[in-house]
Amino acid sequence: MQQTNPILDPFGRPITYLRVSVTDRCDFRCVYCMAEEMTFLPKADLLTLEELEVICRRFMEVGTRKIRLTGGEPLVRRNIMHLIGNLGDEVGRGNLEEITITTNGSQLAKMADDLYRAGVRRINVSIDTLDTDKFREITRWGDLGKVLDGLEAAKSAGLKVKINAVAIKGFNDEELAEMVAWCGREGHDMTVIEIMPMGDIGNENRLSQYMPVSLVRSNLSRRFTLTDLDYSSGGPARYVRVEETGRKLGFITPLTHNFCESCNRVRITCTGMLYMCLGQDDSADLRAALRDTGQDGLDAAIVEAIGRKPKGHDFIIDRRNSGPAVERHMSVTGG
Ligand code: SAM
Ligand code: SF4
Repeated sequence: MQQTNPILDPFGRPITYLRVSVTDRCDFRCVYCMAEEMTFLPKADLLTLEELEVICRRFMEVGTRKIRLTGGEPLVRRNIMHLIGNLGDEVGRGNLEEITITTNGSQLAKMADDLYRAGVRRINVSIDTLDTDKFREITRWGDLGKVLDGLEAAKSAGLKVKINAVAIKGFNDEELAEMVAWCGREGHDMTVIEIMPMGDIGNENRLSQYMPVSLVRSNLSRRFTLTDLDYSSGGPARYVRVEETGRKLGFITPLTHNFCESCNRVRITCTGMLYMCLGQDDSADLRAALRDTGQDGLDAAIVEAIGRKPKGHDFIIDRRNSGPAVERHMSVTGG
C-alpha cells in the first residue's frame, strides 16, 4: 500500500487516528459507564470481523496511521486475535504506525503473549482503584487480582502499559496519589480521566461522581513535582512528567478544557456507525454503505463523513444538566 497524505477535515485537521469499538459487550459493569442491566445489541447487527477489517483498511487508504481497538471489552469478542493479527501485519509492512488496545485487563493473563506476537506493543489498562473491595464496587463484577495478574503477564510479554483511571469524587480522589506512586514503581505511565456525561447509567448520579481533573492535578502537586510536557497524542490528554518517578502522567479534561483544536481522530462502533466527534450525535452509517454499495460506496461515505467533522463538542455537567449530553454509552464508541 502506498503512503497517502491524510484526509483533512473542514478545519484542516489531518485525520490519522481511528478508534474501533469491536463490541458493546463487557464482562464488567463500571458504575460510571454502564447500568447494571444493559441491553446489548443483537449479534446480527454487529459488523463481522471481516467487515471491520475492510473498514480499517479503507481508512488506512485515506491516511489513518494508528488504530486503537476498544469496546465494551475488546478482548471478549470472539476471534478478535484474528483481526488484531491482520492489523499487526500491516504495522510490520509499514502501512500502519501502530495498533493499540484499551482493555479492562480481565483477559490479559491469557492473551498478553498473543497480543505481543500479533504486533501490539502498547496497551491501555483501565484501573480506578487498587483496593480489591472498591474495585469490585466500581466495576460491579470485576476481580482486581485477575487484572493485576494480567498486568504481570503484559510486562513479561514486553507490552508497554498505560493505566487509565477515571477520577470519581469521594471514591478514589484520595487514592490517586498512591496510584501515581504505584505506576512509578511498576514502570507504567498513567492517565487520569474526567467523567463524561455519556449514556444512561441507571440510578447513579453523574453530578455526584464528577471530579474536575484540575482539582486532581492540584492535589497531586502537593505530593509530586509535575513538569508540563510538550508531548501530545493529538487527543484530549495533556501530559506532565512526575519528577519523583520519571513517568508520564496525562490528564484528560474534556469538560473543563477544550482540546478539540488538535483533534486527529474519528470513532467507529461495532455496528459500523462512524462518529466524527465523541461529544456529538452526528454519525455516518458505514455498515449500510459497505453492505449496500460495496467498497466504492464505503470510500465515498468515509470522505463525506469526515467532510462534516464538527469543530468541537459541548459537554456540560452542572446542576441543571446531570443527564447524558449524548445518549450513547461510552462503551458504544469506546472513549
Ligand atoms: N473496557 C475497556 C476499558 O475499560 O478500558 C475499553 C472500553 S472503556 C469504555 C474505555 C475507557 O473509558 C475506560 O478507561 C473507562 O474507564 C472510560 N470510561 C467509561 N465511561 C466513561 C465516562 N462516562 N466518562 C469517562 N470515562 C469513561
Ligand atoms: Fe466495561 Fe470498560 Fe465500561 Fe468498565 S469502562 S463497563 S470495563 S467498557
